[in-house]
Amino acid sequence: MCGIVGYLGHREAYPIIVKGLKRLEYRGYDSAGIALYDGNDIKLSKTKGKVADLEVRVESEISTNGSLGIGHTRWATHGVPNDVNSHPHYSNSGELVIIHNGIIENYEALKKELTKRGYTFKSDTDTEVLINLIEDVKNKENVKLGKAVQIALNQVIGAYAIAVFDKNKPDEIVVARLGSPLAIGIGEDEFFIASDASPFIEFTNNAIYLEDEEMAIVRRHKGVKIRKIHDDSLVAPYVQELQLNLEEIEKGGYEHFMLKEIYEQPRAIMDTFRGRLLTDEAIIKMAGVEDNMKKFLNANRIIVVACGTSWHAGLVAEYIFEDLARIPVEVEYASEFRYRNPVITENDVLIAISQSGETADTLAAIKMAKSKGAFVFGVCNVVGSSIARETDAGAYTHAGPEIGVASTKAFTTQITVLTLMALRLARAKGTISSSDYRKYLFELESIPSKVEKALSSDNHVKMIANIYKNASNCLYLGRGFNFPVALEGALKLKEISYIHAEGYPAAEMKHGPIALIDEQMPVVVIATKKGHYEKVVSNIQEIKSRKGKIIGIVTEGDTSVKELADHVIEVPETIEALTPLLTTIPLQLLSYHIAVMLEKNVDQPRNLAKSVTVE
Ligand code: GLU
Repeated sequence: MCGIVGYLGHREAYPIIVKGLKRLEYRGYDSAGIALYDGNDIKLSKTKGKVADLEVRVESEISTNGSLGIGHTRWATHGVPNDVNSHPHYSNSGELVIIHNGIIENYEALKKELTKRGYTFKSDTDTEVLINLIEDVKNKENVKLGKAVQIALNQVIGAYAIAVFDKNKPDEIVVARLGSPLAIGIGEDEFFIASDASPFIEFTNNAIYLEDEEMAIVRRHKGVKIRKIHDDSLVAPYVQELQLNLEEIEKGGYEHFMLKEIYEQPRAIMDTFRGRLLTDEAIIKMAGVEDNMKKFLNANRIIVVACGTSWHAGLVAEYIFEDLARIPVEVEYASEFRYRNPVITENDVLIAISQSGETADTLAAIKMAKSKGAFVFGVCNVVGSSIARETDAGAYTHAGPEIGVASTKAFTTQITVLTLMALRLARAKGTISSSDYRKYLFELESIPSKVEKALSSDNHVKMIANIYKNASNCLYLGRGFNFPVALEGALKLKEISYIHAEGYPAAEMKHGPIALIDEQMPVVVIATKKGHYEKVVSNIQEIKSRKGKIIGIVTEGDTSVKELADHVIEVPETIEALTPLLTTIPLQLLSYHIAVMLEKNVDQPRNLAKSVTVE
């Protein structure tokens, strides 16, 4: 789950690597380190903490010259986050150095074997075992670094993206991937290695994305040679031209990435629509759905698998697919689904949702469903990600890079894609009339400007955040399409402010959570018009009678809830099924402001990481 960066070329490697690590810190941030070749030897510096801490340490520890280097920002899996366990790791001879993202599952057995052969280990990491295995192979077999890496990886079980270099061959970096992403940026006589393209996008738009089970030898002045790790066959490098622009991955004047990403939602949703929502022609165009229409139309049911926020988007999809397309839907936590021997048939369609497209449990669920013959459709944001490649078909959300660990625009764009799918299928199945279909299409088109309007409540939400920032608990209630939004609102607050919060279907409150309500308990209730409005108003009465503090998310112009609630936040009116796209906005802002007021690290909350590539 860490971020890796490497450079080999004609510039100073240090500033490129440090800047790149900062861009990748969303992937992991408990330790950071760097190894540079200074023309003579390897200079290594690493520390527990952030990349900023590394910069301080480097200043007092090593010289920073050299045009070859690798750097790492860690999210520990093996061994606590401390200086010694931080990457890079040396081999015993001190000649080889490695950075690694992933897990070597059989590291214990390998470590035992290497210990017998006289190797010693400074850290508790699986990574240090791997670099010594490589060294052992290199010496034993008397082969070059690339071959040694290949032979060693054939003995490894697990997942990795690695970059290795040898101080005796300072003109090459060897990289490999299985299960963790790795991109090679190709510049003018210079090469960049990174977990995603963000560290090198200002230098080059050309990149090679390694596929699973591929390794590459990157040589100064020579280029990139790619091979399959297992069968040694050569692979022709496929250089992609990237569309990403630098502004997209920087904060652009906002205090935090999360706030920037909240504010990007109107644009992000528009990008999700692009080329798909053709209102004038009354068409929704989605190649992944079109090309597999039979699979969808003959499906017994749709199984949605996801984790975290994506799982909440899946729940919204359940309501929308069943309502519009009349296809039964089950929504599963990927981690539970994959381990409980589920009944899957060839007539099932599995929809896997993941922002990063790298979520380990979701990937495993996909593989299992595929092996049982189900048709698997992916909804993810990161282009070229593992899920995008593993699925039979899919639709990207096109939200642009999401750096804040707490998902915001990824959530609303996932719902947008899933809504488009549900509508397209409803049309094909004839479960929606053409006039209703058109109504939806027109309404969808107005969603970006309505999200914009919902964002204008920001100052009001901030004022409310200030009143409740010291609460120790918070309840979120919603019904129907907005029940998953209540869950998502509670998750956002937990993730970034560390305040305990629960989301509940409003009517379920009477079956337990109502016992928690007293004058200390803020209760956020989503009470938009239509749907179950009257019922929700009754639920609000029940909270009021028990002195709970009510924050109502209401439709513009609402009067009933206003009379009862302590505060209301208005969102524009829309078709009920589309309200999650609007009601989510104030809940994102509320958690954001509370976390900022509590001085929490909004973009990098403790214990979390952006893409969860371990199960
Ligand atoms: N398994 C390695 C470690 O614990 C790498 C973890 C990562 O991907 O950051 O150090």
